[in-house]
Amino acid sequence: MTGIPQDFVIIAIDGGAASGKSTSARALSERFHLLHVDTGSFYRGLTAEMLRCGVAAGDANAVDRALATLSLTTRIDGRSARMEIGGRIVPEAEIRGREVNEQVSHFAALPPVRQALLAYQRDQAGVARSHGFRGVVMEGRDIGSVIFPDADFRFFLHADPAERARRRASEGQQDSIAERDRLDSSRKTAPLACPVGATSIDTTHLNPAQVVAQLAATLAPRLTSP
Ligand code: C5P
Repeated sequence: MTGIPQDFVIIAIDGGAASGKSTSARALSERFHLLHVDTGSFYRGLTAEMLRCGVAAGDANAVDRALATLSLTTRIDGRSARMEIGGRIVPEAEIRGREVNEQVSHFAALPPVRQALLAYQRDQAGVARSHGFRGVVMEGRDIGSVIFPDADFRFFLHADPAERARRRASEGQQDSIAERDRLDSSRKTAPLACPVGATSIDTTHLNPAQVVAQLAATLAPRLTSP
């Protein structure tokens, strides 16, 4: 990958809602000194911003206008990349709230929205490098298929819908994950799917530590803990 040293590692983790991506990506970022990039939070932040400006996903012209003035930068928070919109980070409570949960997949299905985030997501590798990280662990829906198809490691996590609903409920979140997965899997642009050649892991009967252990075992030959 241009401009990125050979020992810099890119790890892609894709999967549906509550499949175990975030917990795993966060743990790997700690263990191997990687920048954790949660691209779902980017789509959520963008959705919150659209809603704040009164833009509906069905109004293509208004979406285009809002995207044209968008200024995206990154703030490093510990080992995580936080997206700033116009210099402001949308608060966690807002991006995980009911309205964003309901709307995010509608905005994420729009090609101009995906296009607006494409280069920004790829640029996170440069951000990680300039901050001295060993690599990037990026989670989302299309990381191994669209953003970094040449990633050093590509994983796809999945779990039974009932188990995923149980996980969300135990986090105290109101989130219609089945509906989001349906929208995410059926959209035309960058649908949620296991990329060809990615390592697919069923996390239904695994606890978070077991998922991390399985991922870390695959990474270990290339990365040893600092
Ligand atoms: O990962 P999380 O569940 O927070 O993602 C929220 C939504 O953002 C997803 O349901 C999906 O619509 C969208 N998304 C996406 N592509 C990504 C990451 C998230 O379309 N790479």
